[in-house]
Amino acid sequence: DEILLTVKREHELTDISFNTWLKPLQIFSIQNNRIYILVSGEQMGLTYINRKYYLPLKVAVAEVTGTEYEIEFVLPEQAKKLKTPHPRRRATTEEAERSNLNPNYTFDTFVVGNNNRFAHSAALAVAESPGEVYNPLFIYGGVGLGKTHLMHSIAHFIQSTHPALKVLYVSSETFTNELIEAIRNGNNMAMSRFREKYRSMDVLLIDDVQFIIGKESTQEEFFHTFNELHVAKKQIILSSDRPPKEMETLEERIRSRFEWGLLADIGSPDYETRMAILRKKEELDGVSLDDAILNYIALNIKSNIRELEGALNKLVAYENLVQTEITMEIAEKELQNIISPDIPLEVTPQLVVEVVAEHFGITMDQITSKSRSNDVAKPRQIAMYLCKNMTDASLETIGKAVGGRDHSTVVHGIKKVGDDISTDTSVERLVATIRKKINPH
Ligand code: ADP
Ligand code: MG
Repeated sequence: DEILLTVKREHELTDISFNTWLKPLQIFSIQNNRIYILVSGEQMGLTYINRKYYLPLKVAVAEVTGTEYEIEFVLPEQAKKLKTPHPRRRATTEEAERSNLNPNYTFDTFVVGNNNRFAHSAALAVAESPGEVYNPLFIYGGVGLGKTHLMHSIAHFIQSTHPALKVLYVSSETFTNELIEAIRNGNNMAMSRFREKYRSMDVLLIDDVQFIIGKESTQEEFFHTFNELHVAKKQIILSSDRPPKEMETLEERIRSRFEWGLLADIGSPDYETRMAILRKKEELDGVSLDDAILNYIALNIKSNIRELEGALNKLVAYENLVQTEITMEIAEKELQNIISPDIPLEVTPQLVVEVVAEHFGITMDQITSKSRSNDVAKPRQIAMYLCKNMTDASLETIGKAVGGRDHSTVVHGIKKVGDDISTDTSVERLVATIRKKINPH
């Protein structure tokens, strides 16, 4: 009111002008230095008010509040749109884009079950008190079990509760690529920009660190980043597909640092949690399938939540496309590629090589390449060894599977790994871990 009266006084408005145009105005909301003023009436009134009173109002607002606000007039129906999406939610989405976050991965959408209860509590505690409780927080577990979802949830939470903190989420791929790019540029500028970027964060989340740890050059730089942030009590959150003690190439000094904080594992969801996740997903997507169908999915897809969601999506897509209700028969047929009814997996040389490459964070192209660098040569030998021990393949077939190696190279590789296993328990453990990945039974 004081603002409006100021305008009236300064511009010597008549009562009728004042009562017609200014008096009905209401402040709708104030967001980021912008005042939204509700104009009851129509577009015409708004256009007129905007032309005639925008500046006087702006000046009066500044005079009365001492702050320069931008002013925007809105009609009631525009105001509705402003309201939904909720202002805080909007801010989160914008921030999310800046920090590579998926807006759907929040604590709200994360289903807590026995498999992830501890990791969830740890994540929430860290999100509530960044840098104060567990540092680093190290989340580990198999593929598709919710590590990335939890990490994004932490980042969203901190962004909305501590907007002043600088939060950065990166995949280890991004970290690695940026580092390699900086190194390749070969000048100190590029390198210091890289360091400055990562070391200036208040909260740094790095997903799938096993890929960074697998390579000596990136491991070293990662170690320095980690230390600097840790000393400064900045929050670090890491995820990996396995606990530090199973990361064979991890230097001891880094391993012990990881264990300073809190290790939290995420396991496979039990049936109940799987059902709860499917229900949550139905709710979020506004879809609905028969309970028997959900049950069928939950009973058959046990170890990977991404696949669980994939199955649901597939059926929903089918239903939309064909416009018929999904029956059990359709579900079984549509999902037969995803759901393999407990047929034991056949172990082939190809599968072995793929799993080994994945384990070391190298590509199939690398493991089958001519390169003899230790980063790829060692995994290649392990692949040969496991092919020999887990399949019936001939040496010739094994040689082909690792990029066309000749007989003597294969024999040598197998022998080398065999020798290493008997003399070095860490190699023994490493090979056993990978063997379990290839065939859990
Ligand atoms: P990871 O990073 O461990 O491989 P993700 O975080 O990418 O797994 O999860 C795979 C998918 O499963 C994502 O779409 C994620 O939203 C979903 N998901 C995983 N865990 C949960 C959970 N507890 N509640 C709801 N959705 C989940
Ligand atoms: Mg992930």
